[in-house]
Amino acid sequence: MTATPLVDRYGRTATDLRVSLTDRCNLRCSYCMPAEGLEWLPDDTVLSDDEVVRLIRVAVSLLGVREVRFTGGEPLVRRGLVDIVRRTTALDPRPETSITTNALGLERNARALADAGLDRVNVSLDTVRRDDFREITRRDRLDDVVAGLEAAADAGLGPIKVNAVLLRGINDDQAPELLRWCMDRGYQLRFIEQMPLDAQHVWRRDTMVTADEIFTSLEKDFVLEPAEEPRGSAPAELFTVDGGPHTVGVIASVTRPFCGDCDRVRLTADGQVRNCLFAREESDLRGALRDGATDEEIAERWRTAMWGKLPGHGIDDIEFLQPSRSMSAIGG
Ligand code: SAM
Repeated sequence: MTATPLVDRYGRTATDLRVSLTDRCNLRCSYCMPAEGLEWLPDDTVLSDDEVVRLIRVAVSLLGVREVRFTGGEPLVRRGLVDIVRRTTALDPRPETSITTNALGLERNARALADAGLDRVNVSLDTVRRDDFREITRRDRLDDVVAGLEAAADAGLGPIKVNAVLLRGINDDQAPELLRWCMDRGYQLRFIEQMPLDAQHVWRRDTMVTADEIFTSLEKDFVLEPAEEPRGSAPAELFTVDGGPHTVGVIASVTRPFCGDCDRVRLTADGQVRNCLFAREESDLRGALRDGATDEEIAERWRTAMWGKLPGHGIDDIEFLQPSRSMSAIGG
C-alpha cells in the first residue's frame, strides 16, 4: 500500500499525529480549565479503542504519518491505553509512539506501557514547589508526578521531556530552579509559552510570560547557546546549557510562531480532525467511520481536512478568535 500524504496548500506535510484519548483530566490546572472541570464529552461520542486504532492505522498506512503522540485530557485515565499503545506499535509501518501526560498514575503504568512498545513520555510539570504545584493544579499531587517521572526513567521511556508553562506572579521566577532540578535527574526541560486556549478565556497577551523573559531569567544562572541540531519542524528552540551536554528548549508559540514548519495534525477524542490547535473548523471522521466508510474514504476525508490548513495560527491578527474547544478538549 502506498501512502498519499497529508499535504496542505502551503506545501507542508503532516507526519506527526496527536491523538486525544479523552477530554477528562485528574488535575485542574488554572490556566487550562476551571476548578469544577468542564462538561465532558458524552461517552457514546468518544471513539472506542477499536475506532482509535483503526484511524491510526489509516493514518500510518495511507497518509504517511510517522509519529503518534497520545494526549488528552489525561491519557493515563483512558482505561484501554496500554492496549491501544500495543496495537499502535504493532502497526506496519510502526510509528514512533509517545504520550504527553501529567504523570499521575505513571508510577503504576510505566512498565506496562514500555512493554507495550511505548517509546517516550513527555511529562507536564510547571513547578517543583509543593505549594505552587497545589495552587496551579488545584491538587496536592507533586509526589505522584515525581514518582511517575522516576518510574518512566526506570522503564526506559526516555529521553524524558518535561514541559513547563510559566505563569505571571506564580512560578515566573522559577525557570532556573526547574532547569537545575531537571538536569540533576537527566530530564530535558522545555518551556511552553502560555497560549489562548484556556476554557475560561482569561489569557492575555500583555500578561503572559514570553520566551524572551524566560531566556533573561535563565541567563542569570546559566550560559545558553543555540544547540547545533537542526530544528526542522520541532516546535522547541533548543539551547545547550553551560556548554552541554544538557539542553533546554523554549516553545515560543505566541511570540515566535513556527507555523511555516508545522508537521502536526490532531484527532480529538470524539473523532474530529483538527489541522491546527487554533483551527475553528473540524472534520468529522467519527461519523464517516460509523456510517461504514472504507479506509480509503476516511483517508480522503482526512486529506481534504488538511488541505484547508491556514498558513498560521493568527493569534496576532486583530480578528483572532479563540477556538471554541479549549486545550484539554482538543488534546494538547
Ligand atoms: N494531561 C496531559 C498533560 O498534562 O501533559 C496532556 C494534556 S495537557 C492539555 C498538555 C499540555 O498542554 C500540558 O503541558 C499543559 O501544561 C499544556 N497547556 C494547557 N493549557 C495550555 C495553554 N493555555 N497554553 C500552553 N500550554 C497549555
